[in-house]
Amino acid sequence: MSVPAKRSIPTVGFVSLGCPKATSDSEQILTRLRAEGYAISPSYEGADLVVVNTCGFIDAAVEESLDAIGEALAENGKVIVTGCLGAKGDIVRTAHPQVLAVTGPHAAQEVMEAVHAHLPPQHDPFTDLVPPQGIRLTPEHYAYLKISEGCNHRCTFCIIPSLRGDLVSRPIGEVLKEAEALALAGVKELLVISQDTSAYGVDTKYRTGFWGGKPVKTRLYELCKALGELGLWVRLHYVYPYPSVDDLIPLMAEGKILPYLDIPFQHASERILKLMKRPASAEKVLDRIQAWRREVPDLTIRSTFITGFPGETESEFNQLLDFLDEAQLDRVGAFAYSAVAGAVANQLPDPVPEALRDERRRRLMQHQEDISTQRLERKIGRRIQVLVDDIDEEGAIARSAGDAPEIDGLVIVTDGHDLEIGEFAEVNVADCDVHDLYATLAAE
Ligand code: SF4
Repeated sequence: MSVPAKRSIPTVGFVSLGCPKATSDSEQILTRLRAEGYAISPSYEGADLVVVNTCGFIDAAVEESLDAIGEALAENGKVIVTGCLGAKGDIVRTAHPQVLAVTGPHAAQEVMEAVHAHLPPQHDPFTDLVPPQGIRLTPEHYAYLKISEGCNHRCTFCIIPSLRGDLVSRPIGEVLKEAEALALAGVKELLVISQDTSAYGVDTKYRTGFWGGKPVKTRLYELCKALGELGLWVRLHYVYPYPSVDDLIPLMAEGKILPYLDIPFQHASERILKLMKRPASAEKVLDRIQAWRREVPDLTIRSTFITGFPGETESEFNQLLDFLDEAQLDRVGAFAYSAVAGAVANQLPDPVPEALRDERRRRLMQHQEDISTQRLERKIGRRIQVLVDDIDEEGAIARSAGDAPEIDGLVIVTDGHDLEIGEFAEVNVADCDVHDLYATLAAE
């Protein structure tokens, strides 16, 4: 264990693991740290202590988090643990009794108190200054906008509500102020996230807040409408197909928000959805998808599914494949059921053997491949707008309205070497493969 050298500016190392919601928690803690004059170190050796933001969703994530804590302890010695794993009983303290403090997720205040106790802040008027948009871990041109914390559902495979609690929506004025600051800082795309985006404001009974001196309800429609005024790409994640989602479709048709919906359907069999305690029925979902597409033909729908949920029969799995044929989703991710410790679903009868869960996952992905490819082929020959993420020897690596960063495909602009990262460009789509589009710059 190396002892950090004394320095005048207290310095914190940061390791951020897990989902976009955890990333957003990390950003809030980093912002507070910088606001109080702490420096952030990219290495363990340069830090006086290290904060590890953990994930505890599935067993593999628990292991990764415990390894990260172990590495930070070995390399630095002073470690504060936060995030979902911290909320899972004594796992962290049992594995690593030397950690200085352990908090659950969304606990910026507790993390700051632990940091103060072990590394007091030093007042410095220059380091106290942080940019108004806070500290972010994403590239400069896109940012996550977390609108709420926790979840009121109790899906039987998920332990997030027990880790993060019931839904707590952020006041709409605060969310819009943050969005505005991000826009002023040069962000081009906002990724709206939460555990259940459609439920925004339910807990506050859609309380009226204020933005720009005007009253505005804490509700997803009003939020999207206001975000649409900022002139950015606004992309919605983790949307549940409640009837209120229909109200968002006109905003997509008008170009106020991106024609993109990330809806985790999880399954298509009524019985399995019931066992999962999911809100929607597959039949109604198909009707809704068709209606949405009639209004917004370019709507991209991404979803995720679980294969091998306890009790899933071959015929119920085939129902899922039939659903994919009918729904013609653009992007699909699938997970083999993982028995997360503490999840109610683990007690259900007839567990599916692990090998079969995996095999069904592979079959599902293979089945979807043709559908996703056909959806992309429809774009060949069309002119579309893209946002540039990177430049490399292939050209500009960009994304279209249909591609969320990190989870969807790319648009490779083969003659886009002179574009700039964070720039919008118009391109003509020339070709595609299963995931990506290939395009050239369109004439002005
Ligand atoms: S909606 Fe279900 S899966 Fe999503 S966070 Fe809530 S309980 Fe978990």
